[in-house]
Amino acid sequence: MKYKRILLKLSGEALMGDQQYGIDTKRLIQYAHEIKGAADLGAEIAVVIGGGNIYRGSQAESMGLDRVQGDYMGMLATVINSMALQSALEKEGISTRLLSGINIQQVCEPYIRRRAMRHLEKNRVVIFGAGIGSPYFTTDSAASLRAVEIEADVVLKGTRVDGIYSADPEKNPDAVRFTHLTFQDVFEQNLNVMDMTAFTLCKENDLPIIVFDMNRAGNLCRILNGDDSVGTLVSS
Ligand code: UDP
Repeated sequence: MKYKRILLKLSGEALMGDQQYGIDTKRLIQYAHEIKGAADLGAEIAVVIGGGNIYRGSQAESMGLDRVQGDYMGMLATVINSMALQSALEKEGISTRLLSGINIQQVCEPYIRRRAMRHLEKNRVVIFGAGIGSPYFTTDSAASLRAVEIEADVVLKGTRVDGIYSADPEKNPDAVRFTHLTFQDVFEQNLNVMDMTAFTLCKENDLPIIVFDMNRAGNLCRILNGDDSVGTLVSS
């Protein structure tokens, strides 16, 4: 296996499937199935899932609400998604633990790094809910930070596009897909991989990122098996 310990970042929006809001059960089950495939290969898996299918803090101000309050609402949205994923994974027979950046003790363990490491060593899939537990961050930042903390080998950013393109492939038919970029390339060409905070953390800690299409069955296992035609690798 090319990567032993991975941090998989899934966006909340991807969980919507074709819906306008909320969780598409088919998509959720599909993701659980992909993660099971990776677990069966022997990977140690941590997952961060976003909340954009339910609520984003940036919506708060336009609704006349306080931004910080909105960010906490967004964090709670990620906990809802994390709980759904946890349940779907358990239906696949996978042992999981949900660790939250804000304390919600009835449904999640608190985030404690050593505990997360121990769960991973025991081959439990660890889901990090509530981002990093602080407003003004995103779940991409949470993914990068947790990945560095747990000494993951790679951040796998599962999206609905199959990598990083020179332009938005959904708008520009001439856009070309990169197979490998350096962190510097991403900076210089101003490519949209993650928000700057998240990206900088990976760059400074020499943690590779792979952006790939999570909706294509088998892609996660292909990456773990070293198939470098899947997605775009960003590394130093
Ligand atoms: N959020 C936050 N701190 C964090 C992680 C998330 O404040 O550490 C809030 C923020 O408001 C964000 C929302 O939670 O908009 C949902 O997360 P995100 O937008 O990253 O979800 P995604 O785009 O991946 O669906």
